[in-house]
Amino acid sequence: MSDHLIDFQAKREAAALRKAKREIKRLELRMPRMGKKPKRKKSPTLSKLKKLLWVHISLIVRSWSSVCLACGVNPTNCAAHIVPSNDGAATRFFLPNLYPCCIACNKSEYHQRGSWVYKHREIFGADLVDCLYAMSETPFQLKKHWVLEQTERMKKLRGIA
Ligand SMILES: [Zn+2]
Repeated sequence: MSDHLIDFQAKREAAALRKAKREIKRLELRMPRMGKKPKRKKSPTLSKLKKLLWVHISLIVRSWSSVCLACGVNPTNCAAHIVPSNDGAATRFFLPNLYPCCIACNKSEYHQRGSWVYKHREIFGADLVDCLYAMSETPFQLKKHWVLEQTERMKKLRGIA
């Protein structure tokens, strides 16, 4: 073999060795290290965050009155919307759009939306109700960061943050 050829082969072997070393490193990086790095937690979904926000809001609203504001008789056991929650994202988590309510009234409202618009106007005043309906038409996209911000705000209102 000529010197030239030996040199060529040596270079090729060295390159192959470097390549193998890189491959080992790559594979090692891929392997989970036992008892070390804890798995990164997935960030909660928007739907979960909205549910959490609603829990805080509902507790705040329910604390406003021990008696349902719609019938004035039954004890409060939920938070009800003036503008239904599906009618607009802008008013869904808006405190002035909510009131302490009993299950019976909340159910009745769900089944007779039309007549409840008038009922709400009687109870809360036409100005507020109309204003809320106008507001509900504002395009509003519920984003994670907004929901998180509001959740913190509600926690502060509840005195737990
Ligand atoms: Zn009621």
